[in-house]
Amino acid sequence: MRLIQVSLMQLVILLSANSSSVDNQASGVNIPALIGVILFCIHLYLKMFKGIDLLAPFTRFLNNLEGKKTNDSVKENQEHDANETSHTFFCKFCGNEYSSIDSMTHSSCSKSPYDRHIAYEGEIGKPYICEYCGKEAVSLACLSETSCSKNDGRSHSVYEGKKKSSYTCKFCGRSSFSISSLVETSCDKSPDNKHLPLK
Ligand SMILES: [Zn+2]
Ligand SMILES: [Zn+2]
Ligand SMILES: [Zn+2]
Repeated sequence: MRLIQVSLMQLVILLSANSSSVDNQASGVNIPALIGVILFCIHLYLKMFKGIDLLAPFTRFLNNLEGKKTNDSVKENQEHDANETSHTFFCKFCGNEYSSIDSMTHSSCSKSPYDRHIAYEGEIGKPYICEYCGKEAVSLACLSETSCSKNDGRSHSVYEGKKKSSYTCKFCGRSSFSISSLVETSCDKSPDNKHLPLK
């Protein structure tokens, strides 16, 4: 995405330079190019110091136009967006989206065992996996829709660790290629007899 932005700015500067070669050659001052550079500096300043990305809506529009991306690159973009707009927080129990942790505390959460929304700290991008039963869902909200057979009838509890090729129980060390196969048996080292994947 940054590449697109840089090339866009280069384009703006190039265009400005071309038009100026006709109008302003005599004066020796390349005013449109100067304006382009100033705009670029303002953009950089806002982005680096104020966290405002003036080109974000435009680049998002460009990305929409490109519609034919692979799942991987779409996922990368989502993750990139989530990093850039680091002021987006999701409740790990209901999946609601908030602009700040503070705004998350203003309402109660019907899906949370603590009645409060709690910020999700795991990776952004599907699948979201229940750490107790291994159920996978495309979003946090979808994961919270059904109750979990291995969580005493409460909602599923999302796994917040990295996705791996092998998951290890934090209590007994049993390993398995998926969370759902890890939790198939009961754990004799865990306080509630359930394996729980290490993050
Ligand atoms: Zn919630
Ligand atoms: Zn579950
Ligand atoms: Zn275990």
